[in-house]
Amino acid sequence: MSNAVAAYAMAGPDAAFEKVTIERRELGPDDVLIDIEYAGICHSDIHTARNEWGGAAYPCVPGHEIAGTVAAVGSAVDRYRVGDRVGVGCMVDSCGKCEPCLQSEEQFCTRGAVMTYNTRVPEEVQPGGHTMGGYATQIVVTADFVVAIPEGIDLSVAAPLLCAGITLYSPLRQWGAGPGKKVAIIGMGGLGHIGVKIAAALGAEVTVLSHSLSKQEDGKRFGAHHYYATSNKQVFRELRSSFDLIINTVSADLPINDYMKLLRLDGTLVVLGLPEAPFEVQARVLAGRRRSLAGSMIGGIQQTQEMVNFCAEHGIGAEIELISADEIDSAYERVVDSDVRYRFVIDTATI
Ligand code: NAP
Ligand code: ZN
Ligand code: ZN
Repeated sequence: MSNAVAAYAMAGPDAAFEKVTIERRELGPDDVLIDIEYAGICHSDIHTARNEWGGAAYPCVPGHEIAGTVAAVGSAVDRYRVGDRVGVGCMVDSCGKCEPCLQSEEQFCTRGAVMTYNTRVPEEVQPGGHTMGGYATQIVVTADFVVAIPEGIDLSVAAPLLCAGITLYSPLRQWGAGPGKKVAIIGMGGLGHIGVKIAAALGAEVTVLSHSLSKQEDGKRFGAHHYYATSNKQVFRELRSSFDLIINTVSADLPINDYMKLLRLDGTLVVLGLPEAPFEVQARVLAGRRRSLAGSMIGGIQQTQEMVNFCAEHGIGAEIELISADEIDSAYERVVDSDVRYRFVIDTATI
């Protein structure tokens, strides 16, 4: 027996969000049923729901920054109990057998991870034939893809950690952000602002490269040591060859060579935002200081748990604007206009 759940969905790429009823699968032995309390709005939700990346399946229920409490557990689940505070991020399953899965890098599953929404799956996995995400009152997820949220961090500010948090934590750890390292974050939106907090907590010297100085005070409050507006071209001369690590959270086309030149010897620029146009990187910019251009995609489940624990220990949550479900359309417009401080989170009690 599947169970009917209230959700907010888009019926097509240009449609407005409307309240719908969707079905969740029957609770299997390895599953957890979660009462969703909060769902963050990631810019990827917008790219997907508006079919900007192609391949969108409708009705589209986005949402991969999910926080709530356990409502029921399957017969084989011993890790979670009813009432536990939990989160779900961008993935809800993977093959569990390939090399990346065995290394808890499920996001790189060679068979393709099952994403929390918009992945085509059999009807018994998600009635309707494609996964549907967190803009809903409940979700059923295999326990291996559920993360525990420690006491001491409010669920509303924890929700965005499940995508934005891990997406920044993973490359910061991978490329060794810490004491003595100079880290720059391009774009201080949903991803960027959590990146600033995490990088500062890891002990790195943190610089924000924003397109204006309008959020400078906030940046300093989040732990940034330096803050520059990239609209001032003088900045690119001033900061030349100065960073060990640059993390780009912007999906707009940026003059990539100008940013690559800000890397010092052996520095790496990591791409998180996904611009449409290919990069044209000058070989001499790479070779001149043995620089690297790399990419990163969310993080594995084990590391997501590590990140949530790290954030709880360091008092790190997202800066959020809590909205009701009937405000999702206007929130989307404001995210697209870079008018968000710094993550919209849906109070799913309003669905
Ligand atoms: P967001 O909240 O909209 O933040 C993006 C920031 O980029 C803005 O706040 C703004 O920062 C800057 N920006 C926007 N338009 C710009 C422009 N035209 N020129 C220069 N800077 C601009 O979005 P988000 O949720 O953080 O997501 C950022 C991107 O990462 C999205 O494309 C999303 O799909 C992608 N993403 C990737 C992964 C991954 O695993 N790789 C995971 C999640 C999201 P300033 O005002 O400070 O300049
Ligand atoms: Zn996301
Ligand atoms: Zn796999």
